[in-house]
Amino acid sequence: MLSPLSSADWAAEARTLVLSTGAIIDGVVGAPVSGAPLERVSPRDGSALPAVPAATEADVDTAVAGARAAFRSGVWSGLAPRERGTTLIRLAELIERDARRLALTISVEMGKPAQDAHDVEIRAIATTLRWYGELADKLDDQAPQVGPDAVALVTREPAGVVAAITPWNFPLTMTGWKIAPALVAGNSVVLKPAEATSSVVLALGELALEAGIPAGVLQVLPGQGQVIGQALGRHADVDVLAFTGSGRVGRLLQGYAAESNGKRVWPELGGHSASVVLADADADKAGATVGWAAFYNQGEMCSAARRLIVHRDVAEQVIAAAVRTAGEMAPADPFDAGSRFGALISIAARDQIAAAVDEAVAAGATVLAGGRTVEPVAGGAYYEPTILTNVPAGTTLFDTEVFGPVLTVTVVDSDEEAIALANNSVYGLAASLWTRDLSAAHRLSRALDAGTVWVNCYEEGTLSMPFGGRRDSGFGADKSAHAVEKYTDLKSTWIAL
Ligand code: NAP
Ligand code: MG
Repeated sequence: MLSPLSSADWAAEARTLVLSTGAIIDGVVGAPVSGAPLERVSPRDGSALPAVPAATEADVDTAVAGARAAFRSGVWSGLAPRERGTTLIRLAELIERDARRLALTISVEMGKPAQDAHDVEIRAIATTLRWYGELADKLDDQAPQVGPDAVALVTREPAGVVAAITPWNFPLTMTGWKIAPALVAGNSVVLKPAEATSSVVLALGELALEAGIPAGVLQVLPGQGQVIGQALGRHADVDVLAFTGSGRVGRLLQGYAAESNGKRVWPELGGHSASVVLADADADKAGATVGWAAFYNQGEMCSAARRLIVHRDVAEQVIAAAVRTAGEMAPADPFDAGSRFGALISIAARDQIAAAVDEAVAAGATVLAGGRTVEPVAGGAYYEPTILTNVPAGTTLFDTEVFGPVLTVTVVDSDEEAIALANNSVYGLAASLWTRDLSAAHRLSRALDAGTVWVNCYEEGTLSMPFGGRRDSGFGADKSAHAVEKYTDLKSTWIAL
């Protein structure tokens, strides 16, 4: 379905690309909203993008009221589950039909290689919509045995109005992980995309209407997080708030919920993931894979490999393989079909990453690869895949999530030291473990305190496996049938006979 494209194909697509900019409220594309337009530039080359009219608090009220009315009407919530499922599958088909346009929109807005957006983002959201679409008529309720005089039912009902606030790094994948389980359960959704990737999410909203998702069931409101994200967080008629983004905003949303109607908040937050390589590991594979996992998507990935913790016996070989991978992923024009590493989200983000690297170097760290700002496209936000060792504790890079292409290496002398260091983080999103020893693989994957552990691989999974963190990485995993529970309420019904 998704065929490979050449650089010439992407250039041709770019010449005719039109970005979606209109809010979607109650089935109207380009619904009037009253905020000052969002001015945006493409991080690929610094060129201006069409401004997006921003929603305000009053527009949030309108959108939530419309979502509530659609929910109450039963136009979606009252359908047979199979009908909802079929509609989600139709949306997946439309996304694939428009794969090039959507992928290029992502690339222009946030800088990832267009081919990556095409192969990974389009595939991920289409797979997600199909998976939940197919799940729709396979969910069961329960009827506990209570004897001859009664019938007891434990059923799940849609929560009502779900607000979803999403980030820019995987704008379609993250959105799909929220809206597919929420919609399949029968909820109405008000979606607030990251400013940077407003257009691709608005395009998704247009396709949802074309697929037959009724007016009001999927509202898409572009605007500022601190304005309309906060308004959604504080809204008395929003039942559930699904969020992926930074820990700072995740905490704010929990506060807004506490200060308003006590709605449940599902925060999927950052990470600072460790990769532990034991002395018996396949050193070349471990180094190359961890390097890829550090730099894929420009390192702008919550589950990126940030901390390589390697046994001294294999350190030299593992580091050499990671450094080779860094070299193979040199920043290139995101429209180049062969590009494996594009632009960062903004010049400001690039400068923060550079500052964290410079701070670590000033504190005694050694640069093994990268470490420089580059400009494969003039005016763009590019930074080399970077590997550092001897990064001291107490530096920004060692202690916190720096959201970009930087991998730190620490050499250790025992498995115990490796696990202790890996778990020495406020985050608990993901980890990888490299060993040929079956017993160590089981024992130490249990010891790693993270929501996902990959053994001898990275970023593997299917929709049936939940993805989420612990501690400062948040809670309430996305994906799998478990995610449907986040958007439903339990009801107990006792019928006396
Ligand atoms: P962010 O600043 O937290 O933004 C995420 C979303 O929250 C955006 O839509 C943003 O809108 C909105 N927002 C900002 N301030 C808000 C407020 N006061 N109230 C309500 N909403 C508000 O995060 P980011 O920088 O875009 O994304 C990077 C972070 O996301 C990293 O920490 C990364 O690890 C994490 N992440 C986690 C996962 C996961 O699954 N665990 C996946 C991907 C990314 P604006 O665009 O207007 O600022
Ligand atoms: Mg932000």
